Amino acid sequence: MSFFCPHFDQATEQCVKLKCECIPGRPGCVLRGKVAFMVPAEERVARRSPKKKTKV
Ligand code: SF4
Repeated sequence: MSFFCPHFDQATEQCVKLKCECIPGRPGCVLRGKVAFMVPAEERVARRSPKKKTKV
């Protein structure tokens, strides 16, 4: 990543504030509403957390 956030844990690449994967701009992120992203945070979150398919 090419930015610095005091909540980012380099070792685990996790957000210590939200206790989950760092995805800048996600709900609860300090950058939310302050920075414009090329790809919306919701889209990036959805890509990383695909809904599980149910077996038929
Ligand atoms: S999700 Fe936001 S607040 Fe958390 S580490 Fe990443 S940039 Fe920082």
